[in-house]
Amino acid sequence: MSIAYLNGDFLPLSEARISPLDRGFLFGDGIYEVIPYYQGQSVGLGLHIQRMLNGLAEIEIDCSLSAEQWRNLLNDLIEKNSDQANNLGVYVHVSRGTDDKRYHAYPEGVEPTIFAYTFAIKDPEPVDREKVTQYSLISTEDLRWQRCHIKSTALLGNVIHFQQGYSAGSDETLLYNAEHQLTEGSACNVFIVKDGVVLTPKLDNQILPGITRRIIIDSLKADGMIPVEERTISMEEVRSADELWITSSSKEIAPVTQLDGHSVGSGKVGEIWEKAFAIYTAAKFLY
Ligand code: PMP
Repeated sequence: MSIAYLNGDFLPLSEARISPLDRGFLFGDGIYEVIPYYQGQSVGLGLHIQRMLNGLAEIEIDCSLSAEQWRNLLNDLIEKNSDQANNLGVYVHVSRGTDDKRYHAYPEGVEPTIFAYTFAIKDPEPVDREKVTQYSLISTEDLRWQRCHIKSTALLGNVIHFQQGYSAGSDETLLYNAEHQLTEGSACNVFIVKDGVVLTPKLDNQILPGITRRIIIDSLKADGMIPVEERTISMEEVRSADELWITSSSKEIAPVTQLDGHSVGSGKVGEIWEKAFAIYTAAKFLY
């Protein structure tokens, strides 16, 4: 039985209930995280908790749990669900809480709603260019909001963009701003490789500061063999890249071989992907 956490209690997921007046339900007024655990070992747990605390502070949700208390809570939930699957993702969601009316201003004296549950995730992909799953993407202009650095539960903008790719038979939707500069995917960050250099958009309000992105950059820098740069990337550069990758906690580093019906680089998974994925795989549990 899948066990969830809701407002201080562990209970069967099927019994978890919240009010329809919860501001997460009414306004998407909340922050969330998804953290992967492979065989009970987390990837980037401290970084995920810190990003959640930053998001909560930014939207002024006062949640009394410390980073240490979050760590214990999430590890406890994983432990209670360890019979469910070898690899588990934790979804954790903090909304501003339940008011007695629907009114836009932040209410006073309302306790945040804290919800978390686990779900099975796949084994990591093989570190093998010939065997790894290849992705096919379409691209479109990024029409979300100007606060994409906040991991908000209000995901309609992302959902619409994801659906555009899904309806077109592609795996994800790559997004660019009005200046035709790469931002990210509807549910992932994006990297390109050109002439042996790994490039990814720098952090600003147009992208989520992905934890997988962070671990890739830091582990490549620590390894020292593959140069990596964070900077503005034009869509022209994306279209002439040797390699294109999408990254997230669930996909890790996924190679993209088709963009808008054209081959990326040689049309095969690249050598730098294989090296970078090996470096990431060796380092990921250290973060
Ligand atoms: N950007 C967006 C819009 C996302 O939703 C996600 C997570 N699915 C990411 C980037 C990747 O973030 P992370 O590596 O922390 O999962």
